[in-house]
Amino acid sequence: MDLATEVTPSEAGTILTVDLAAIVANWQTLRVVCGDAECAAVVKADAYGLGLGPVVKALYEAGCKTFFVAHAFEGRAARAIAPDAAIFVLNGMRPNTAPLYADFNLAPVLCSVPEIEDWGQYCAVTGRRTPEGGLLPAAFRLETGLNQLGLKPYDLEHGIHLSHLFDVTLVMTQLARAEHGEAIAKQIEKFEIMRMRLPKARASIANSGAIFLEANPLYDVVRPGYALYGGNPTPGRPNPMKPVVRLESQVIQVRILEPGERVGEDQGWAARGPRRISTISAGTADGIPQSLTKTKNGAGGAAIVQGKRCPYIGGVGMDLVAVDTSDSGYIERGDIVELIGPSITIDDFAAAAGVSGYEILTRLGQRCHRRYQKL
Ligand SMILES: *Cc1c(COP(=O)(O)O)cnc(C)c1O
Repeated sequence: MDLATEVTPSEAGTILTVDLAAIVANWQTLRVVCGDAECAAVVKADAYGLGLGPVVKALYEAGCKTFFVAHAFEGRAARAIAPDAAIFVLNGMRPNTAPLYADFNLAPVLCSVPEIEDWGQYCAVTGRRTPEGGLLPAAFRLETGLNQLGLKPYDLEHGIHLSHLFDVTLVMTQLARAEHGEAIAKQIEKFEIMRMRLPKARASIANSGAIFLEANPLYDVVRPGYALYGGNPTPGRPNPMKPVVRLESQVIQVRILEPGERVGEDQGWAARGPRRISTISAGTADGIPQSLTKTKNGAGGAAIVQGKRCPYIGGVGMDLVAVDTSDSGYIERGDIVELIGPSITIDDFAAAAGVSGYEILTRLGQRCHRRYQKL
């Protein structure tokens, strides 16, 4: 059951608004930044939690021709929406799953010699072809320094011996994060040498952050994810992307606290003077990290109520969090609260919680009502 799409706004504790027009605008911005390189879209993990179906549809209609997912089932879902797009499955190919890829014309990103052998054997034995009659596609992932997935030079030599059995349309690698400039330079050097062995394949290295690195070659295809969804690909500098996500909840109850009264199960916070607090219908199960709990040393989270920034008080519970609305105007049950949005960006929210924006995005939307702002 797809619970998320069945929750109506009046039933929901939180409402997640996804601005599809902003996702498309971000893709267009990245296209301009990337010049001659093709701008693909990474839509793994349900498009970073925002909904693979609507996101792929919006980008496909805007002209996006290449999608990256992590798993075959995600590729199958994307294929249903984008019949003629190139779809790459990043996490390689598990044993005995080759038919899944062939059935939906998905290109496995082959990361090891056993995977190359599997795919080669399947293609040779079945003689299957793409709808256009060509050899089935594949990508090679090259290992250049992250030591997670990918082919070392000797693996690549082995793979090249089998590469006549399918069509290696792409060679790719994944870079370290921007702050590791020296490591990246080494990675690019290794990539350069290895990719020469497959001169006809297109090349791809850049994720969102790498697109904005100075003097970074973008090659033929770029693979942004986070930036499409409004995350800042240039940490520490102004965000060139448009915000995409708004997470809102409601005030369930307002109360006045006497000095010394405590809030929440953990009883960690006590009012110093009279305070007016509002209990909000959202918690960790809606993707608000527990680490946004206000502690003695930490700032904790904040929400926007009636245009005012209201700090969280007490702990973030599974379903509830209280905020101090003493300084806001008149507040009543049912008032809308911004948890993430124009005033509190994904990156701010994540930084306050001490986690990455990626983690925040993919955790949202477990039990919200999702609303899509169309083009
Ligand atoms: C997730 C992923 C991307 C997208 O990364 P962002 O930082 O979200 O832009 C690109 N390439 C690979 C291999 C990935 O796994």
